[in-house]
Amino acid sequence: MKLIGKGLFALALCFAVIILVRTFMFSPEQTEVNLSPGIPLDSEVLADHLADAVRIATVSYENTDSIHYHNFALFRQYLQETYPLVFQQLDVETVNTHSLLLMWKGSNSDLPPMVLLAHQDVVPAGNIGWTHPPFDGVVDDTFIWGRGTLDNKSCLIATMEAVSHLLQSGYQPAQTIYLAMGHDEEIGGPDGAVKIVEVLQERGIRPGLVLDEGMAVISNVMPGLDRPVALIGIAEKGYVTVHLTASSDGGHSSMPPENSAIGNLSGALVALKDHPPAAGLNGVAKMMFDSVGPNMSLLYRMIFANTWLFEPLLVKQLEKQPSTNALIRSTVALTTISGGTKENVLPTTASASVNFRIKPGDTVESVIDYVNETLRCTGAEIANVNHEFASDPSKISPVDGDAYQNLQRAIAKIFPDAVIAPGLVIGGTDSRHFEAVSDHIYRFAPLNLDSDDLKRIHGVNERISKNDFANMVRFYVELMGE
Ligand SMILES: [Zn+2]
Repeated sequence: MKLIGKGLFALALCFAVIILVRTFMFSPEQTEVNLSPGIPLDSEVLADHLADAVRIATVSYENTDSIHYHNFALFRQYLQETYPLVFQQLDVETVNTHSLLLMWKGSNSDLPPMVLLAHQDVVPAGNIGWTHPPFDGVVDDTFIWGRGTLDNKSCLIATMEAVSHLLQSGYQPAQTIYLAMGHDEEIGGPDGAVKIVEVLQERGIRPGLVLDEGMAVISNVMPGLDRPVALIGIAEKGYVTVHLTASSDGGHSSMPPENSAIGNLSGALVALKDHPPAAGLNGVAKMMFDSVGPNMSLLYRMIFANTWLFEPLLVKQLEKQPSTNALIRSTVALTTISGGTKENVLPTTASASVNFRIKPGDTVESVIDYVNETLRCTGAEIANVNHEFASDPSKISPVDGDAYQNLQRAIAKIFPDAVIAPGLVIGGTDSRHFEAVSDHIYRFAPLNLDSDDLKRIHGVNERISKNDFANMVRFYVELMGE
């Protein structure tokens, strides 16, 4: 008995030593950052330019008949008038009438080009709840207010400002730079980004870096981390909606049978909700925590340094928050349901739709298999799969090449406090269409966001501080100006 006690004690000691050694080895890599002298920019002028852009309501609607295309023409005219040098010195073409593709020829044609994406369109905004009307472009002492100030006119205008700034200083980039500005990102990009990619493909252009929105510099959202984190999206989740149906004989509700359409469908939905596809701390989520973990407080550092031991616990914890749950699994969302016509009649059919966001590693196919497996014995079945809007998760872009390093360098210069880490984009961006022409797709907008700001995107009171906007311009200058 004593021997067993001693043995257990030795084992526990071993575990403790392993955990501690791994914790202290799990510390941030030291990187030297030489800050270049700040680039002089007039943040007031920049703010006015963004505010002007906000006032042109380039709103996308699912029903394209509702889109005011005239505003996109006005928007283009605005860019032309505000950035004459850019329009004179870059090759400018329109793609599918409203999307824009600008090419800034580099001095070294051997280098793979860089593509900077930004979309011209914004989502609709009602007037309710806004401190300043969404399309008034109000600038106060601190902020620029309105739809598009975060998503995504800030990126678009900051890119134009940066190119303009570099042109004025007589700069020519080594690699060719494309600015790709789609006009329908918010409705999936079929007429914009998709067509721009076709143009690049026809010309045999293989970008070494494609940079789009998707992630940002985020503060106060990760427990145990007191620094902001600059997340570079190296992949985005896939998407599929599955429509389910269940049927039964129907009849009078006074003698209900054991199985009914609504009962069977409900059982199926509960089964899907309670048994989602498996979660795991692997892939992009693991890469993110490997980068962020060493910078966290001791307890979190210990946990993330020892995922060999703590993974099951950690997964349980991450599953509790919708935002972290979405990182570690393909998610199941019950989105529509219908069935029945009258309160005392049993319906013969009932139907529902379930939306899945697919994490890298799973596929549309594997999700459908999972649904079929889960529906067995429930009496419900798949009626159809919406393949038109289905997409597999993106490929995972590398974190060790020139493109990623160049991004890291520019981020470190402009956001010196931030921990830089790869991340997974939960929604969809235009960049997924660029997989046809590049393996180096990164999703990062140089925006400073806290949890409050995250709600403003597609929400009310979208705004950006003048200071943050000027930093966006500095970021693009840094990225293109090497
Ligand atoms: Zn966007």
